Amino acid sequence: VAAVADVEPGLPVDVLRRVFGYDAFRGEQREIVEHVVGGGDALVLMPTGGGKSLCYQIPALVRPGVGVVISPLIALMQDQVDALRALGVRAGFLNSTQDFDERRMVEAEFLAGELDLLYLAPERLQSEATLSLLDRGEVALFAIDEAHCVASWGHDFRPDYLALSALHERWPKVPRIALTATATKATHAEIAARLKLEDARHFVASFDRPNIQYRIATKNDPKKQLLDLLRTEHAGDAGIVYCLSRASVEKTAEFLVRNGIEALPYHAGLDARTRAANQARFLREDGLVVVATIAFGMGIDKPDVRFVAHLDLPKSIEGYYQETGRAGRDGLPSTAWLAYGLQDVVQQRKLIETSEGDDAHRRRLTAHLDAMLALCETIDCRRVRLLAYFGQHSERCGNCDTCLTPPESWDGTVAAQKLLSTVVRLKRERNQKFGAGQIIDILLGRKTAKVIQFDHDALSVFGIGTELREAEWRGVVRQLLAQDLLAVEGEYGTLVLTDSSGEVLRGQRQVMLRREPERPTRTAKEPK
Ligand code: ADP
Ligand code: ZN
Repeated sequence: VAAVADVEPGLPVDVLRRVFGYDAFRGEQREIVEHVVGGGDALVLMPTGGGKSLCYQIPALVRPGVGVVISPLIALMQDQVDALRALGVRAGFLNSTQDFDERRMVEAEFLAGELDLLYLAPERLQSEATLSLLDRGEVALFAIDEAHCVASWGHDFRPDYLALSALHERWPKVPRIALTATATKATHAEIAARLKLEDARHFVASFDRPNIQYRIATKNDPKKQLLDLLRTEHAGDAGIVYCLSRASVEKTAEFLVRNGIEALPYHAGLDARTRAANQARFLREDGLVVVATIAFGMGIDKPDVRFVAHLDLPKSIEGYYQETGRAGRDGLPSTAWLAYGLQDVVQQRKLIETSEGDDAHRRRLTAHLDAMLALCETIDCRRVRLLAYFGQHSERCGNCDTCLTPPESWDGTVAAQKLLSTVVRLKRERNQKFGAGQIIDILLGRKTAKVIQFDHDALSVFGIGTELREAEWRGVVRQLLAQDLLAVEGEYGTLVLTDSSGEVLRGQRQVMLRREPERPTRTAKEPK
């Protein structure tokens, strides 16, 4: 056990230097700290890596009493507390991982005024025992970390967080500081309303992460594309690869290992010990790659993650931004790379269609997905679009893929009409629905077994689309889906028209598309 020294209270800047060993506050940290030290409530929106922790840790040390930190990150509490103790800060936590004796010891420390910071899992506050414990001690402040968890509009809603509005009623004099790295206007407003922080001072930092290069590629052979990226730009670098499913996490990790890259899997299906071991290795060792579902990463503070790669489309821009934000916390150049394709759109739409919850919930998921798709298909600067989503203005960055190699846009109206009328014909003449693959085969005039089986070479639209390559047609389908001019339906992802398709078919609407990049030619050495 490390020797735990008493930290003398003092001026915030003294605490910053003496306890944390930093020279100066960053960004708005000083103002936030002073505001909370003075007893004010605060709502802090700051990107991942921006330095939110100090915003409540320093006031907790300066104000009399114990700073109570509510955090959903139970798995990280031990690490956070250990790190603080190593700095001489008296920190403890209460959560479900502890046995009775451990909890009682922390409670005793709290009551004796022997703690500076107490981390609590949100569900603790549902129990009257915990609330009365807090009554009997002195609370310096409440810090509500990952505050977007209270927002149903966000991507990480936790019902436990709704109870946090009661903090203010029970302890009206104790300042509260809510912090999050998620900052759309809608989430922001919902956090303020649900936590009753409308009268708090709101601190909104810039969400720009200038050292991160955002790139979104068309998916053709994702594992191979990933391997190319790692070999050519990130050899020996630490990074995170996100996949949608546990199975693809496993397969991708194995693939990387087979190709000489040290990669570890991480997903909720692994036993707790393996997960903890893999996470610990990633944090401690250099140059490891973690292949994970989005279960990995919240609260992970590894400064030198050089790349974050997504092999599947994230469900929302919030999620994408948080996940990519784990790259480059040290401020050095880092890559956020995403591969996405038609199948992602089909799959995500299907997930929404079959998701639990009411229509309002499905509409919300659809709006999230549409915003993400618009980011993927934009021909503007990615950063401009990303920040605009968070309500922030910026100039073209000159560093993202669209700035570096501006994609062309082309008038895809005729192509869209050909595709949509193929869908219409199958429906009207044959009462049939098909997925993108068959529609594209018909447009390209391919006499595949399935085309012959269904007699599709007899359709008047058979072979009317030979001016485009298959990859281009897939791009057309993807972009029509993204623009809501086409929809997918059912288990097999069959294509159907939307309310807006008619405008295109009648020539009342122009369709601008992003040109597909040439498909890279494959080499004989291509790993499989
Ligand atoms: P967030 O919670 O916003 O993601 P953290 O509080 O974990 O960010 O801080 C990110 C990193 O920046 C940490 O390594 C932290 O020690 C460091 N940091 C925070 N504030 C400062 C500062 N004023 N000077 C130097 N480093 C800082
Ligand atoms: Zn740019």
